[in-house]
Amino acid sequence: ARPVVAVVGRPNVGKSTLVNRVLGRREAVVQDTPGVTRDRVSYDAEWSGREFVLVDTGGWASDATGMAAQIAEQAEIAIQLADAVIFVVDATVGVTDEDEAVVQVLRRSRKPVLLVANKVDDPRREADAAAMWRLGLGEPYSVSALHGRGSGDMLDALLAKL
Ligand code: GDP
Ligand code: MG
Repeated sequence: ARPVVAVVGRPNVGKSTLVNRVLGRREAVVQDTPGVTRDRVSYDAEWSGREFVLVDTGGWASDATGMAAQIAEQAEIAIQLADAVIFVVDATVGVTDEDEAVVQVLRRSRKPVLLVANKVDDPRREADAAAMWRLGLGEPYSVSALHGRGSGDMLDALLAKL
């Protein structure tokens, strides 16, 4: 069976944009307003001749209290169903409480995790991506899901975890 890769992270970090980048088409719904993606949407994906299922996640209410807990809960479900996880953070914002909540879930799951520092549209932002080492999830792969920068290296690293 094809391995399942869940894309998790708090709203607005660019998960759906990243999914579209990997698919090479615009299927996942990208929104400036967080909370639009339904809970989990699966897509057939391929890289270097290897097929896998990519699961975009979202669906939490952006105005709710206890948002970090909600995000962690959603991520937990997706992570349980996955063989590997792409954890997306926003390099332009830095680490938030919501990010930390997802990290806790990732650690407990013991699933292979690829850490992606998104929105590195410009090489001058590389230091912001490198700051994500402090999450303790290994090497942060810096990408610009919007422009495609770094996505090939990221996918090579993902395949190495499958
Ligand atoms: P999600 O909630 O995590 O699925 O995030 P989306 O994919 O819907 O993106 C949220 C916002 O961030 C949208 O306005 C995107 O255009 C923007 N965005 C996503 N990736 C990038 C990126 O690499 N660079 C920049 N500058 N903006 C991005
Ligand atoms: Mg989304």
